[in-house]
Amino acid sequence: MSSAYDKPLPMPFHEELSRPFWEATKRHELIMPVCNDCAQIFFYPREACPNCTSMDLSWKGVSGKGKIYTYTRVRQTVHPSFQSEHGHIYAIIELDEGPKIPSNIVGCEPEDVYVDMEVTAIFEHVSDNYTLTKFKPA
Ligand SMILES: [Zn+2]
Repeated sequence: MSSAYDKPLPMPFHEELSRPFWEATKRHELIMPVCNDCAQIFFYPREACPNCTSMDLSWKGVSGKGKIYTYTRVRQTVHPSFQSEHGHIYAIIELDEGPKIPSNIVGCEPEDVYVDMEVTAIFEHVSDNYTLTKFKPA
């Protein structure tokens, strides 16, 4: 069966740091690192809190709801796996809980996307190892 992911995909690195995130997306859950000292929720996963440098971190579930902080329409990609007929929307989504996450906007026409558009997370199965988080209009 043909799909959008027939071609080789780039895969995540720093896998130890981000493994809980990828395990959660397989369950269709969105989680973010949270600092146990200052309560800052942040993304991407890293070894220390970007607010207070504490290394006492855990993970917290987030709503998957947010709004588009900024975006661009990608018509010519640097990787063949991401090439589609009409291009795709690469966006930074600001979640209601505060952190920003890079992703794609799906489920609408590219010309209908705008800054501050309310969106919600969906999960797209890529392989047995990875499920991507994308966003659609809320
Ligand atoms: Zn902190």
